Amino acid sequence: MKIIIHGGFFSESSQSAETKLAKQQALSRIAEASYDYLKTHTAIQTIVYAVELLENDELFNAGIGSQIQSDGKIRMSASLMDGLTKRFSGVINIEDTKNPIRVAEKLFTYDDRVLGGSGATHFARHNGFEKYSTEIPQRRKEYEEKVASKGIGTVGCVALDAHGNIAAATSTGGKGFEMPGRISDSATSAGNYATNDCGVSCTGVGEDIVSAAVATKIVTRVTDGMLIDEAFEKTFNELKSIDGFAGAIAIDKFGNTYHQNSHPAMVFASYDGVTLEVFN
Ligand code: ASP
Repeated sequence: MKIIIHGGFFSESSQSAETKLAKQQALSRIAEASYDYLKTHTAIQTIVYAVELLENDELFNAGIGSQIQSDGKIRMSASLMDGLTKRFSGVINIEDTKNPIRVAEKLFTYDDRVLGGSGATHFARHNGFEKYSTEIPQRRKEYEEKVASKGIGTVGCVALDAHGNIAAATSTGGKGFEMPGRISDSATSAGNYATNDCGVSCTGVGEDIVSAAVATKIVTRVTDGMLIDEAFEKTFNELKSIDGFAGAIAIDKFGNTYHQNSHPAMVFASYDGVTLEVFN
């Protein structure tokens, strides 16, 4: 069993040593709690649980604490993928919902598994997800100051459970100040993908992640037999050729965790019940 989570990149608006430490502590706490949960739950249940905890922490740009778009509204995206059934579900640009990942989870059993915009928000309301503002004063302040925050900070989790099943989940408040209607990578297979050979969750500039199909390529390469480090290297070299900005975390079927980023500011933690590693 193994778990790896990420809290995106450090935001320019919150690069203080204090915030960095707080993020590291939050990630350690959530990695440990999620690993405990994994002992009695499946990989797919655990990734949703972990991402919900990350969404609930306003330090991270997902759920509570999400970035505000150029028209003053918050729109969030989240997805999950189960390596066992190869099913993907997600919500794109959902509004006023505390935990987008739980809505993505709810969609997992439906025929129509990726909903966007008002359809996603409507689905949430009709399924008992109450209206909830995820705005925090810091984000409004940044918005009002028109600080085009480069602070991207999606969250994600990949887990390998006791049955050898892998699942991945990703949730984001977006890049900040984006045009309404813009689609993040986080609820696409470029940003979140898994088979039972490998699972990947990405963060970074969604347009770059989609252009380089980062998660899809890494997972497919490992599934086809490439070693996880080689799959990362090849994929990140291709990302470099388009000057892309991205980071990714992964676990393969042997329990190897791996991470790489094009810019050294991603924050993440992994835990296997013995060793807790926190990086940034
Ligand atoms: N990938 C997200 C997006 O482009 C942002 C992030 O990772 O922080 O919407």
